[in-house]
Amino acid sequence: MSSEWIQTLKGAVAIEALGLILPHEHLFTDLRGPTVPGYAQAEPATVARVLEPYLAAAQAVGVTALVECSTVGVGRNISVLQHVAQLTPIHIVAPTGVYRQEFMPASFRQASAEQLTQAWVGELSEGIDGTPARAGFIKLSVSDDGPTPLEIRNLIAATQASQQTGAAIASHTPSGALALRQMEILEAAGLDLARFIWAHANLEPDAAMHLEAARRGAYVEFDAVGASWQPQTAMVDHVLALIQADQADRVLLSHDAGWYDPSRPDGQPEAGGIRGYTALVEDFLPALRARGVAAELVRLITEVNPARAFALPDQS
Ligand SMILES: [Zn+2]
Repeated sequence: MSSEWIQTLKGAVAIEALGLILPHEHLFTDLRGPTVPGYAQAEPATVARVLEPYLAAAQAVGVTALVECSTVGVGRNISVLQHVAQLTPIHIVAPTGVYRQEFMPASFRQASAEQLTQAWVGELSEGIDGTPARAGFIKLSVSDDGPTPLEIRNLIAATQASQQTGAAIASHTPSGALALRQMEILEAAGLDLARFIWAHANLEPDAAMHLEAARRGAYVEFDAVGASWQPQTAMVDHVLALIQADQADRVLLSHDAGWYDPSRPDGQPEAGGIRGYTALVEDFLPALRARGVAAELVRLITEVNPARAFALPDQS
């Protein structure tokens, strides 16, 4: 029996206990940045009540775990997340790490790579903000014209934290060129690229970039499933291209959806309200099947790959 597990807000869960996993979603996000008064603040019970129907709908279509990608700098609030986790049987995975330079809290600008590594290992192995709730992966982000020197420092610190804990590193990445640049930095720092997730690969139209990243071992995440601004057929084509190139085991799919927005009185994000977490099962997977993708490959991409990506090694 495998002894791998994922770290959720309610504790360790064996990967055998999991089915469909959404590797990139948002529950509670504040894009105003950490210097704005009221940043990341909301009544946990209110947030949980607003999100509950969306999580119930996700559970009803078979979602067993959801990875919250709102990291430090874009609203991470552990008491809110713990409250939400109590209301749903879906296992919720929380991030450590920090968002791109523009969103970095002041203390993160001054920290050394060693200090960040130590802080992130602490959140992965002990708990976040004085709670026993542990982070399950490292979430970073690069600027459109980055990576900046501070973002390079983050990549090096995250590599060290990943090597000490086994945790995956997922990075908000706006282009293929930036994905490959980050992979160079991570590899030079000693990371096995099988621990790296290229988030937002759908923003890169060149399938050759996806293929290169996958061949070098990284996960290529198409995470705009159900988003009105993203042509869905383009993502279907990109997934098929990777399957045909024997790289199906590097593909991840998610919605990048949600979320409760504490900057708004009703919590509804300005761009059309909260987007739910069911389009993958209801629309995107049927589209893949209609293009001839076998059930076993669908299971690989939606269950096996995310479990492997976020799995942590046995510590006993
Ligand atoms: Zn996201």
